[in-house]
Amino acid sequence: MALMTPETFLQSLVDLNLEIYLFGKKIDDYVNHPIIRPSINCIAMTYELAQRPEHDDLMLATSHLTGKKINRFTHIHQSTGDLSKKVKMLRLLGQKTGSCFQRCVGMDAVNALYSVTWETDRARGTDYHGRFTKYLRHLQENDLVADGAMTDPKGDRSLPPHRQADPDVYVHVVEKRREGIVVRGAKAHQTGACNSHEIIVMPTVAMREGDEDFAVSFACPANARGVYYIYGRQSCDTRKLEMNDLDVGNPRFGGQEALMVFDDVFVPWDHVFLCGEVEFSGALVERFAGFHRQSYGGCKVGVGDVLIGAAALAADMNGVSKASHIKDKLIEMIHLNETLYSCGLACSCEGYRMPAGNYQIDMLLANVCKQNVTRFPYEIARLAEDIAGGLMVTMPSAQDLADEKIGPIVEKFLVGQCDTPAIDRMRTLRLIENLTLGTAAVGYRTESMHGAGSPQAQRVMIARQANIDRKKELARELAGVGKTWEKDKIRAPGA
Ligand code: SF4
Ligand code: FE
Repeated sequence: MALMTPETFLQSLVDLNLEIYLFGKKIDDYVNHPIIRPSINCIAMTYELAQRPEHDDLMLATSHLTGKKINRFTHIHQSTGDLSKKVKMLRLLGQKTGSCFQRCVGMDAVNALYSVTWETDRARGTDYHGRFTKYLRHLQENDLVADGAMTDPKGDRSLPPHRQADPDVYVHVVEKRREGIVVRGAKAHQTGACNSHEIIVMPTVAMREGDEDFAVSFACPANARGVYYIYGRQSCDTRKLEMNDLDVGNPRFGGQEALMVFDDVFVPWDHVFLCGEVEFSGALVERFAGFHRQSYGGCKVGVGDVLIGAAALAADMNGVSKASHIKDKLIEMIHLNETLYSCGLACSCEGYRMPAGNYQIDMLLANVCKQNVTRFPYEIARLAEDIAGGLMVTMPSAQDLADEKIGPIVEKFLVGQCDTPAIDRMRTLRLIENLTLGTAAVGYRTESMHGAGSPQAQRVMIARQANIDRKKELARELAGVGKTWEKDKIRAPGA
């Protein structure tokens, strides 16, 4: 099958007929639901850009399995160049959507599983890698969206999975049959879950003896029997139900998270990629998280570009763009945004070949990247709000602007520099509101904090990767720590 178009992607979602609940009700025509549709448009953009020749280099790659052109979102990185192009592709998509476009989690899942299945086979004599590459071929040839599902609800965080009062708070195997396994549990805040054709489940923490039933990785269709979704709310999401595009701020695009439930789902053995090998769950978690921490050095930067642009536009419309403090704030926003991009590119350029043949990012730099992402977007958002001014959260609604009597009054008083029409000022300020406080703030702010792991998770990895002993050695050498000091043989510095 050729690459999908946005239209065929949309039809494929209709055909999936997923079981989705929102506001306590099952949603039948979810593809046209005003709260859900903007998130679908985001993933459709990953198909649309892949059709445009000017984006070939970033959006397409050559499959190492088939030699065919595939969407980069289904590609296994074959070089540091591939790793860098991934970051650039995500920045481009962030710029086009101003939102989380969701498809990266599946890409990061397949890249983590590629090497972990290979290593598990070498150590345990299993045949996971062969199964996995066959499955990967299916994803590539059909240009599918996969949801990389890692985060379990986790219950009492002080207890390991097998000691939880309710074992279902971690996805686990409840039955092994000759043909496959039966799994139960849930995955929380799953990005793009309801816009995916496939789900790739991975364990959420490093596991130990006793946790064998929880050390499970597998793939199943998003509409597998027993899988259903409870749609996550976002700040200001019901504005989308008002059916006016002005007050939403970014009406075409949006992110999506859902609670994904596995109610005794059967998975055939050829879709099982880890089952009981507890010692490999940690590597899978670290590599998936590492790849997704690299991703943030692209996607959040693209959204940051939109926010910086919107703040600069607001300044123009207010007639303050020449004020030195405004210029300085915009420079600071750019500096922070490009620092994130530098981190995304740095961990890619310093990537290396794994024994399985694929390329892995530099783990230390990827974790530094994400640690910065837990901070800089907040400062960029703060500066954008500063430049936007209070009108962003006090201005009248679209209905007021449309009203026969008070509409002209709103227009009269919201006019900006050189008669900038009130409607354009309102649009720009609503976009900033959307990115900093509205639905897109989920992706730009809170997801920057917790997505791909909360800040502490990166600090643990930074501590582990930093080789502090080597740094001590460097200091010891230069300071001469441990050498005898002969006070009568004092030499001039540099001698
Ligand atoms: Fe992709 Fe960024 Fe969304 Fe993660 S947060 S799925 S990297 S757009
Ligand atoms: Fe994310």
